[in-house]
Amino acid sequence: MYKRPKTMEELLQASSLKTETILAGGTDLVPLIKNGVKNCSSLIDITQIPELKKIEKTDKGWFIGTAVTLSSLAENPDIRQAYPALSKAAGKTASPQIRSIGTIGGNILQDRRCMYFNQSAYWRSSLPLCFKTGGSVCHQAPASPVCRAIYYSDTAPALCIYGALAVFYENGCRQTLPVLDFIKHHTAENGTVRYKEILLEGFLLPFQEVPMKSAFEKVSIRNSIDFPVIHFAGTYLPAAKQSCLYAGAVSHYPVRLVKTEEAIASSSFAGLDALTEIAVQEIRSLSQLIKEPGISPKIKRESFKNIRFLFEELFG
Ligand SMILES: Cc1cc2nc3c(=O)[nH]c(=O)nc-3n(C[C@H](O)[C@H](O)[C@H](O)COP(=O)(O)OP(=O)(O)OC[C@H]3O[C@@H](n4cnc5c(N)ncnc54)[C@H](O)[C@@H]3O)c2cc1C
Ligand code: SF4
Repeated sequence: MYKRPKTMEELLQASSLKTETILAGGTDLVPLIKNGVKNCSSLIDITQIPELKKIEKTDKGWFIGTAVTLSSLAENPDIRQAYPALSKAAGKTASPQIRSIGTIGGNILQDRRCMYFNQSAYWRSSLPLCFKTGGSVCHQAPASPVCRAIYYSDTAPALCIYGALAVFYENGCRQTLPVLDFIKHHTAENGTVRYKEILLEGFLLPFQEVPMKSAFEKVSIRNSIDFPVIHFAGTYLPAAKQSCLYAGAVSHYPVRLVKTEEAIASSSFAGLDALTEIAVQEIRSLSQLIKEPGISPKIKRESFKNIRFLFEELFG
């Protein structure tokens, strides 16, 4: 069944999130349906609802509707001016074609990826079912009690550094959570993504009382389309030596680099090389690497050094 409500009221009336699946741009969901890893017999298309497609200034901050496309977000002059790292992250996601239909909500709620999961049913049929497909083992890390697939959303770390809140409905109640908590909340106990039950309305980006420097850097094999090998987002307030730093595509959540932030606050490092080394060690300690197509864990670890480009932007 396919429903396409035209207003928020219609959507809330139409949806039974226990049985129906939200369809936004479909760039993540449709390949998974085709590969037989998601069983979605009933879809609700949210792309025709004006309330979910707006970017507007409210008294609490900027609201970005879940169905705003990545290209509209990247091109929005207000967002580019106030939240440049988010604008850059949206503009660096996937390819122009995907950005023109892929949404910010779908980007945050995209499934974690793994080379044993993002495969056809025929390919997967040669292996026992893993956690993500209803089994009880992880082929990447057989001793792991949970799925170790990696979360690649490019916009997630950029939303996190600005303290963005996710606004969503669950069991009919409208709620808010910081984006990282929302991502964790959306993950089931065995580490797989709960793709039903939650209706995301959008994101609220608080105003910045004191303007901060902010930056986003992404490393990928082919810049024109690929998922990140790694990405970094950060803010820096020079007067207070206060920073907020995230790295992503290294674990099942974006990771916050608290020790590196502390080193910046206390100026306990001699130059950017030393700071880069502190950050590399911290990313190593927080990352949970798995086998990924096209890149070995050794090369992936080398990519951690690229955080230096983020530092050059923030402190340059
Ligand atoms: C070739 C290719 C390259 C890609 N490269 C990148 C990349 O570089 N970086 C990156 O971050 N991503 C990448 N992606 C992943 C993905 O396509 C994008 O993240 C895109 O933004 C997903 O948005 P969508 O609107 O198409 O989501 P959909 O596919 O429509 O939805 C994704 C998931 O979110 C759920 N969902 C969507 N909206 C809501 C809502 N409002 N409430 C509740 N649930 C919802 C859906 O049910 C589904 O489970 C790539 C995909 C492809 C195919
Ligand atoms: S990380 Fe493990 S459980 Fe998750 S999809 Fe891959 S093999 Fe399956």
